[in-house]
Amino acid sequence: MEELLSGQSDPDEKRCARQRIEELRSLIRKYDYAYYVQAQPLISDRDYDRLFSELVELEQRYPDLVTPDSPTQRVGGQPLEEFAHVQHRTPMLSLANTYTRQEVLDFDRRIRHALGHETYQYCCELKYDGVAVSLRYEGGRFVLGATRGDGTVGDDITANLRTIRSLPLVAQPVTVENVVLSDFEVRGEVYMLRRDFEQLNRQRIIEGEKPFANPRNLTAGTLKLLDPRQVAQRPLQLVCYYFDSDQVRLRRQSSNLELLGAMGFPTSPHWRLCATIKEVFAFIDEWETRRRKLPFDIDGIVVKLDDLEQQRRLGTVARSPRWAIAYKYEAEQARTILKDIVLQVGRTGVVTPVAELEPVFLAGSTVSRATLHNAAFIEQLDVRIGDTVYVEKGGEVIPKIVGVDLDARPADSKPWQMPSYCPCPHRSRLHRPAGEVNYYCESPACPWQIRRRIEHFASRDAMDIEGLGEKVVAELVEAGFLETIADIYDLASKRDQLVGRPGWGTKRVENLLAAIDASKAQPFHRVLYALGIRHVGEVTAKLLAEHFGSLDALCRATMDELQAIPEIGPRIADSICTFCYDPEERQLIARLRKAGLAFSAERQSTQSQQPLAGKTFVFTGELDSMTRTQAEELVESLGGRATSSVSKSTSYVVVGHMPGSKFTKAQQLGIPILSERDFLELLRTHGVTI
Ligand SMILES: [Zn+2]
Repeated sequence: MEELLSGQSDPDEKRCARQRIEELRSLIRKYDYAYYVQAQPLISDRDYDRLFSELVELEQRYPDLVTPDSPTQRVGGQPLEEFAHVQHRTPMLSLANTYTRQEVLDFDRRIRHALGHETYQYCCELKYDGVAVSLRYEGGRFVLGATRGDGTVGDDITANLRTIRSLPLVAQPVTVENVVLSDFEVRGEVYMLRRDFEQLNRQRIIEGEKPFANPRNLTAGTLKLLDPRQVAQRPLQLVCYYFDSDQVRLRRQSSNLELLGAMGFPTSPHWRLCATIKEVFAFIDEWETRRRKLPFDIDGIVVKLDDLEQQRRLGTVARSPRWAIAYKYEAEQARTILKDIVLQVGRTGVVTPVAELEPVFLAGSTVSRATLHNAAFIEQLDVRIGDTVYVEKGGEVIPKIVGVDLDARPADSKPWQMPSYCPCPHRSRLHRPAGEVNYYCESPACPWQIRRRIEHFASRDAMDIEGLGEKVVAELVEAGFLETIADIYDLASKRDQLVGRPGWGTKRVENLLAAIDASKAQPFHRVLYALGIRHVGEVTAKLLAEHFGSLDALCRATMDELQAIPEIGPRIADSICTFCYDPEERQLIARLRKAGLAFSAERQSTQSQQPLAGKTFVFTGELDSMTRTQAEELVESLGGRATSSVSKSTSYVVVGHMPGSKFTKAQQLGIPILSERDFLELLRTHGVTI
């Protein structure tokens, strides 16, 4: 029927459709580039989805207009029986590796010797720990992608590579020496962010599959999948560093990197031209530390002669180029003895086994603990107390155990068993919900959970309350100031008790209270995430906030309504319902509402719309028309804040009869001073008349 319709359709209509399809594709390409390569989204997800579905619809109506470079083709084609083989145009060489500085010096000496009196410089790049691929473009379009294979022949993984969102299916036309570059080869590295790797691994463990050892293995495994639709599910990244074309003769590696960027390929921003080997070492040293802050793994630095003509003259030896060397950092893995396995309690009551290790030096610090994820992970790996284990550190995450040296296992070791009780003082029974790998402490009064929950609430991605970190939370919970997350917003009334605490003082307390106050302006989705509903992470919270718009609407939703959202499964839906019907949680919500937090998306926060939002007032001396408390309440009702001491961040000092030292201090600091009349006038302009 559809075909009939399109067959009958008027040629004008089809021409229009063709035009619109082209328009949509070029828009989507532009938005993909901004989002995936530049990480600067230009439009909302919703608008993007609208354009995308319009394109899908048009292509369904006119299937003959579908081309392999259409953005719709990224979702993955038909599974393959096996990969075809591809002969590389020029061999994909492997670099000579070294772990020693001496060899880098030797490398430089050989270059200097070979080039005689010529000047030269090095282009230093990060060595991404991924899988090398070659990408061929014809007429500016991506036509063939291959693995390195043995360097001469690789596997055709075009369909898999097409799913990588940062890979341009159509390159930006760039003119070099009057030639528009259209036929060329690009090489790069496919890799995975550590965060995505960990999430996928967690999923695998839940599904009873063996976890991957590191992001590179997972990337390699993914590229070998024969079903591109499965590949499309995995968030692969691409970085490009090589460009070659018969159309032009390029001069420098560094300009190739710039050219790749201009053509819309993802490149690393972290490369540097070095005139001397000393500068090369400075780059190596700098990244030895900085690499831990990267969201992905690098395993070293690649040092290349920048001049491509010089590269050609030096040539290759034994399948490795003479003009480049890879300096590799020491592996971030260590071998040590597992002394004990202890339990740690998280904010949702989730109980995580943690390994106590014989302290070992690993990647710049001494490690004595490592995560073991959950009981299933321990069982999979069969880790036992007394074992010799391999520990790895990646980025800022806690070290983890990745393997066991079975040869070193003591003869009398026994498999580890999950204890039945929480290690907290309540010693409540641990419970494992059906279909989950994690055990939970079910006691709501568990002090360990309370701490974690408050820490999570205040954390950077949630309410972002500066100064309310792990240590402070522990102290305030211990001292009885905080029992629930809602108590955070009552701290302002306990100002004096806080100021009296050792190590605190006025300034620190005021800073903390100001940070707490500022958190009231956080949008609904952050509040939702901060609540710490089991299984509701940042992404899910955003999704729910967008979909339901308010907590009330969310709590009214049935299990079925929740699960109608594609990303929400029974596990999340169940946990939301449990949360919404929990009387204690409801009480908490009521208090947080009263404190002024945003529980709907429309009213992101009245706080920031209120006339005195962000303004701090200090009162000194007596007022005629009202008491000090009344004045303070008026300020607060307009979104401002009243504090008791003057600091640089004070907005106004209101001065009544017989002012105290605060008046002098305000003058010294140059804080605007208001008389009672000025203050009443200010209130009047905001609609409050006394
Ligand atoms: Zn407990």
